[in-house]
Amino acid sequence: MSTVTRFPPSPTGFMHIGTARTALFNWLYARGNNGKMLFRIEDTDRARHNEEAVVALINAMKWLELDWDGEIVSQYEQRGRHIEIAEELLDKGLAYRCYCSQDELEEMRVKAREDGKPTFYDRRWRDKSPEDAPDGIEPVIRIKAPLEGSSTIHDHVQGDVTVNNEQLDDFIILRSDGTPTYMLSVVVDDHDMGVTHVIRGDDHLNNTFRQNVIYDSMGWEKPQYAHLPLILGPDGAKMSKRHGAASVEEYRDMGYLPEAMRNYLLRLGWSHGDDEIISNHQALEWFDLEHIGKSPARFDFNKLESLNAHYIKEADPQRLIDLCMPFYQARHGVTPDAQAQKRIMSCADELKSRAKTLLQFTDESAFFAKALPLDYDEKAAALLGQDSRDVLEALKTRLENLDDFTADNIQSLVKDIADNLREGKMGKVAMPLRAALTGTTVSPSVFHVAETLGKSETCARIQAALQTEIK
Ligand code: GLU
Repeated sequence: MSTVTRFPPSPTGFMHIGTARTALFNWLYARGNNGKMLFRIEDTDRARHNEEAVVALINAMKWLELDWDGEIVSQYEQRGRHIEIAEELLDKGLAYRCYCSQDELEEMRVKAREDGKPTFYDRRWRDKSPEDAPDGIEPVIRIKAPLEGSSTIHDHVQGDVTVNNEQLDDFIILRSDGTPTYMLSVVVDDHDMGVTHVIRGDDHLNNTFRQNVIYDSMGWEKPQYAHLPLILGPDGAKMSKRHGAASVEEYRDMGYLPEAMRNYLLRLGWSHGDDEIISNHQALEWFDLEHIGKSPARFDFNKLESLNAHYIKEADPQRLIDLCMPFYQARHGVTPDAQAQKRIMSCADELKSRAKTLLQFTDESAFFAKALPLDYDEKAAALLGQDSRDVLEALKTRLENLDDFTADNIQSLVKDIADNLREGKMGKVAMPLRAALTGTTVSPSVFHVAETLGKSETCARIQAALQTEIK
């Protein structure tokens, strides 16, 4: 039987990184085994439903470059089928109507607590006849869970997990308003969609025992399970906003590459020896359920950053520029045109080797796209004060007359000016030059930057710096 996994998020408005890791593992397992990964939106909570939250999930999947097979399934749209199965279970005597009022349930809850029982519903309607039904109460439908014995899940991550069946309650499958519960919907959908492997967070492990009651009652084959341990923050508490970014969208906006995020999430809870850098190709070949770690993984921001730096170095420069476009606009109010992009490309190796994030890549190259006069940041402005006038004037005159405008020649010329005016201290000339050309004090090699800008733009920038001072 070919492998079918599924990714069934609830639309919350963003994608938690734990959800992203679940998506990645399902995707790798399906793709690595020539199988399919299905995408289902668990959108049955209509009161809180909004379409934007669904779009956010789709966008996060696209950004992570994780694809799926077939149309996205809406769980809500399948509700008719879920109700049908609830009724079938009722007809077969495997489920029953329960007419308990809220007060009765509350009483049972208090009593169960006093008696230290694992579940509270005392199954009082399990064997009653429908004739006993009181007027005016819309019943819920409950499943008949087994009363004796034990149940075992053979989990690919957790191993064999067994519970006594007395821990299982006769849980609700259809509410009194006729809507199916998550417990029922998920089983019916997974069965109907032919899911063979359920890979999800271990917060669902308890649900699995209950869901298996439905599989058994229907005589359906159960999927295989792999329950993933949680992701913790660096301090060992459940990863949340408090630790910094907890959603995929935030990492995208902080300038992380999708391949770095995937590599990081893969290693967060799965291992292949000591390998840290794992390409997509290798991940598809190597990923298995057996090497998923049993204990919760701690998020390590530094590791993610160093993977990001690695993938930025490997990336095609044009792709990086394209990914940086929203950042150029948002952070610097510029959109590099063809000429600026060409200039950024010619310094790409240096920019790449320095950048830990796309934000850094953006910030250190935006000057190529800026029009004169530049805005000088505080440090750059300090370098362009009265003290630097002689240096800037010498640079302008000498560079205007430099025939072969190469980085090497520009460097020799700077050295010469330093020897003449600054006792041989290159920095005293190169730093004001960088400030004039970039408006900042961090950039690729200033000689290379000057060569890339070309003679007339370089001289125009020095002139603009001189004029800014005169004002
Ligand atoms: N919709 C559930 C969630 O987001 C997933 C349920 C499942 O994987 O079965 O937690």
